[in-house]
Amino acid sequence: MALKTGAEYIESLRSMKTRVYMFGEQIENWVDHPMIRPSINCVAMTYELANDPQYEDLMTAESHLTGHKINRFAHIHQSTEDLKKKVKMQRLLGQKTASCFQRCVGMDAINAEYSTTYEIDQKYGTDYHGNLKRFLEYIQENDLVVDGAMTDPKGNRGKAPHEQEDKDLYLRIKERREDGIVVRGAKCHQTGSVNSHWHIVMPTISMGPDDKDYAVSFACPSDADGMFMIYGRQSCDTRKLEEGADMDLGNKKFGGQEALVVFDDVFIPNEYIFMCGEYDFAGMLVERFAGYHRQSYGGCKVGVGDVVIGAAALAAEYNGCEKASAVKDKLIEMTHLNETLYSCGIACSSEGHPTASGGYMIDLLLANVCKQNVTRFPYEIVRLAEDIAGGIMVTMPSQKDFRSDLPVGRNGETIGDFCNKFFVGNGICSTEDRMRVMRFLENICLGAAAVGYRTESMHGAGSPQAQRIMIARQGNIQGKKQLAKDIAGIE
Ligand code: SF4
Ligand code: FE
Repeated sequence: MALKTGAEYIESLRSMKTRVYMFGEQIENWVDHPMIRPSINCVAMTYELANDPQYEDLMTAESHLTGHKINRFAHIHQSTEDLKKKVKMQRLLGQKTASCFQRCVGMDAINAEYSTTYEIDQKYGTDYHGNLKRFLEYIQENDLVVDGAMTDPKGNRGKAPHEQEDKDLYLRIKERREDGIVVRGAKCHQTGSVNSHWHIVMPTISMGPDDKDYAVSFACPSDADGMFMIYGRQSCDTRKLEEGADMDLGNKKFGGQEALVVFDDVFIPNEYIFMCGEYDFAGMLVERFAGYHRQSYGGCKVGVGDVVIGAAALAAEYNGCEKASAVKDKLIEMTHLNETLYSCGIACSSEGHPTASGGYMIDLLLANVCKQNVTRFPYEIVRLAEDIAGGIMVTMPSQKDFRSDLPVGRNGETIGDFCNKFFVGNGICSTEDRMRVMRFLENICLGAAAVGYRTESMHGAGSPQAQRIMIARQGNIQGKKQLAKDIAGIE
């Protein structure tokens, strides 16, 4: 049993006891909750496409541990070819969902853990790599979703973890026992946490000797005793609760998801621990996970960008101005920006290299350049999409108005008649189709999906300054100075 179907994945969530809170209440049936379900549908697509023969090459891989065919999201990259396929898979999923499909964080976590645990073991004689491999085999064979959890609440950003007044503001080892550890703390804005089967927890920054208790990494089931999630709000999210909601959602089927994940004294057995006090490796794990996730954005955001560009082109067509040279030029600019992001994703993959563990790592400088561009270009793409669409994307009446048969005109015309008459476009498409594309753009530019396409482009996988620090570190300014000296004849 290696590949599940989307439906099997959704069913598998029903047996989990994951504690989810929203609007101050516990949500018992979170699988069918209208605000959560779109994000589950989105992850289900990572299963659906893996079962589709036309995407087999991108969506599946051969496990280096078992030789079995597995979902690529559970794979350890074995070559630069694997790294490139990962980016292509993410672009494909972005195109099919126009949302964050969430499963990448776990993929990036297992890959970062794979090489880091190997190197910790080499230095300290521990068996974290063995723990990880056994865990991986289980994940691969059961085709499970793993959430990678890194971001701590951080409290006073000017202070190290051990210096915080409230010691829980970075997740920590609260107690060491013979058979495991008890951890306490939280991870913030965790993508895909509610609908993951397991979590891999990692430290969030480089650490020193005083932060030993915070240098901890482990796996635990998402419904572990003491663990719970408080669901994050999204712009316009309660539209999903409206009866018969369809057009006003823009993207009815798919969406992303973030939550605050609380670890209220959770016991972690020894066999699921991947780091326990080796503070000198915290920075390596963070850097590698962030690097992989910055590569990821050169795939997923590009796929979503493809849909945004398509929607902008449709809006222009429905408005009857698709032949205007200014519109054509804006679409060219959007495409140029989007493909630049893709080029970065492919470049950092092509320039990848094997680590001591055998797993492949991306080129860190290029991955950070990739993500730095992602903090900018989707904003410009969205700006151009809004420019092309026109203000109508934020001023249209609701679906209920367009469908209303309440007579309000002198000759008995309904609200729906007036809406359909005055919001008509090129006369070829229906007013409803025009409304649909406008609402889609609203959704992605400033509605629920803007979480994934805009703000996540800024802060996901690390805020812009985090990439600039890495670019400074990897940019080799000294070497570049030498190049200038050599040519300018400076001794
Ligand atoms: Fe995957 Fe992109 Fe969502 Fe990260 S932001 S989980 S890379 S889809
Ligand atoms: Fe993300």
